[in-house]
Amino acid sequence: MQLEGIHHITAITGDAPRNVDFYARVMGLRLVKKTVNQDDPTIYHLFYGDEEGDPGLDLTFFEYPGASPGRAGDGMIHRIVWRVGSADAVGFWADRLGGEDVATERVDGRLRFRDPEGLEHELRVDESDDDPLIAEHVEVPREMALEGFDGVRAYSSQPEASKALLEQALGFRGAGDGWEVRGERRGSTYAYDSPPAEPGVQSAGTVHHVAFASSVEDHETWRERVIRAGARPTPVIDRFYFRSIYFREPSGVLFELATIGPGFTVDEPLEHLGEHLSLPPAFEHLRDQVEPRLTPLPDVRQWRPGAVPSGG
Ligand code: ZN
Repeated sequence: MQLEGIHHITAITGDAPRNVDFYARVMGLRLVKKTVNQDDPTIYHLFYGDEEGDPGLDLTFFEYPGASPGRAGDGMIHRIVWRVGSADAVGFWADRLGGEDVATERVDGRLRFRDPEGLEHELRVDESDDDPLIAEHVEVPREMALEGFDGVRAYSSQPEASKALLEQALGFRGAGDGWEVRGERRGSTYAYDSPPAEPGVQSAGTVHHVAFASSVEDHETWRERVIRAGARPTPVIDRFYFRSIYFREPSGVLFELATIGPGFTVDEPLEHLGEHLSLPPAFEHLRDQVEPRLTPLPDVRQWRPGAVPSGG
């Protein structure tokens, strides 16, 4: 029984239209689900993915309109590391982000930058044999596209405290300056850095949690393992697109274990993922109240292959 790497990463935005512009236009990801936060259905939960909405490339945002900028501190993820296919792709993104006035920094062949709200990303050339997870986009050629998560880095003042849970309960294996969590099909990395002096502020531009991928069959067993390791997971919560448990690992990072199915095509056809507001059945009765209150968003179809120019 192994976790199949990162399932999704969830962060916070205070500005959903700008968030859609950055991730669906500039970064070339596909908006694969536009739905609401199931714990607060008056706000968006936006999911960006590859063409199929696969676990392994799924960056999601809760929208708290107007939220002030936060900052990562002890016990929080501070950097999302992505795979690209080649050094040429790193150069492509340096140019493309530069053209958007996004500051970039090259570090050991990798490219670091922040989204408009300060969330830090790093692109690196993929060294795994995992299948690339790619979204189609009118301006980003396939060979330059983001290919999925490589891993995340968190701040911890007591990384040793997390070792037993990560290694014994969750099957993480020491690799590089952190760990690799790898299943039959995919793997991801997880590592800690020393925290800054200032405490973190969970707000816009910060990561809320990281989810690791479990098969549907193993999900309950993972929960029991986490309990035996001394963590306190939630009950299994049905998120409609997947099932989830949540717990804080000893360094303070909020972990989720999410099932690989049923996935985003459970309520929309693959060709039209994310084009309309999706509400799980338990929330459908709120549509008339919720839909008019949500922030209007750009039409992402303009950045999809086969898009018809809007003329003007
Ligand atoms: Zn989640």
